[in-house]
Amino acid sequence: MDLFEHQARELFEHYGVLVPRAVVADSAPEARAAAERLGGRVVVKAQVRTGGRGKAGGVRLAADPAAAYVTAGQILGMDIKGHTVHRVMVAEPVQVEREFYLGHALGRAAGRFLAIASAEGGMEIEDVAARRPEAVARIPVDPDQGVTDAKAAEIAAAGGLPAEAAPTVRRLWRVLTEQDALLVEVNPLVSTRDGAIVALDGKVTLDDNARFRRPYAHAADTADAGDPREAEAAARGLNYVKLDGHVGVIGNGAGLVMSTLDVVASRGPPADFLDIGGGASAEVMAGGLAVVLGDPDVRSVLVNVFGGITACDAVAEGIVRALDTVTLTKPLVVRLDGNSAARGRAILAERAHPLVHQVDTMDGAAARAAEPGPAVKGGALLPTPQ
Ligand code: GDP
Ligand code: MN
Repeated sequence: MDLFEHQARELFEHYGVLVPRAVVADSAPEARAAAERLGGRVVVKAQVRTGGRGKAGGVRLAADPAAAYVTAGQILGMDIKGHTVHRVMVAEPVQVEREFYLGHALGRAAGRFLAIASAEGGMEIEDVAARRPEAVARIPVDPDQGVTDAKAAEIAAAGGLPAEAAPTVRRLWRVLTEQDALLVEVNPLVSTRDGAIVALDGKVTLDDNARFRRPYAHAADTADAGDPREAEAAARGLNYVKLDGHVGVIGNGAGLVMSTLDVVASRGPPADFLDIGGGASAEVMAGGLAVVLGDPDVRSVLVNVFGGITACDAVAEGIVRALDTVTLTKPLVVRLDGNSAARGRAILAERAHPLVHQVDTMDGAAARAAEPGPAVKGGALLPTPQ
């Protein structure tokens, strides 16, 4: 998961990276009070988990506390690339001399850690890399060696950063490794007139698989869990990932759900990944269905269960239970196979809900779910007789 800028800033500060003094504010009066504490003239910055805030008008200078009040009022509630601004960070302005880019990342394609550095900071690094690849240095980092003083100097030199930036390169590497981050990015890292190196922005992506051993980030993990449906699913103990498409996908076991996503994706974009897990009860199934049906992007749902430990009759009971509590307005395509499949199919056939369709094969079920048109229009299609 991604940290907000103010959380990244706090982490950087903890590791000795120079950052501007700053206060987080939820309202315009709080922003005014923050500006008073910081000496009057401030930068007001939208706190959303996306870049390009500056371009979108979410980063603005305010000359005094009264202006900070007005500016915060304008930024709070703004929509930046689909993210609503609920908070601003009020920061002491920095006298920027030059802007650089510095990042440490897990390079999946390269299969190793990469330090990325460039003298063309401030802009989107992807754009710089596309236009002038030679302006972006990518230096592999051996995880066993880490970023030593010598390596930090090498990275700074390769990217055209001043030699004074080397300690920052090393400290940000510590953030990456000690916090189990997949990405630590500072854009821009700036030099000031008096020769200081300051992290003016921060993006940190933490590895969710390491959440259990990360006391610091735990508060951040739970306080702003991002997508509300992901938070609800997590509370129910379900593995759920929100995707961009329209077909809700539910299955038992991550492997089966992933293959189902592949089959669905060849016909239409999946809306989510929901794994009810092995040995799922009717209650778990009903809860999972409620989460997926609550997603306004979902136009149809595909339940693909291969009963091993999970009994298909329990899954069917869960679906029936969900039908009693939610009003189904979208087609629900169900494929049950394996343990107690015959009983499960019979339970659904007996319920005979007009929007519930049983299909025997995974391919057939995916095709049906990806083309909800006729089922919605007719509304009278009965379950396939078994
Ligand atoms: P982003 O657009 O989401 O990446 O947000 P940034 O935090 O990077 O801010 C956008 C731009 O605003 C930066 O690239 C800087 O050029 C500028 N900026 C932000 N804070 C300050 C500041 O304190 N002083 C100056 N001079 N520029 C700033
Ligand atoms: Mn930035």
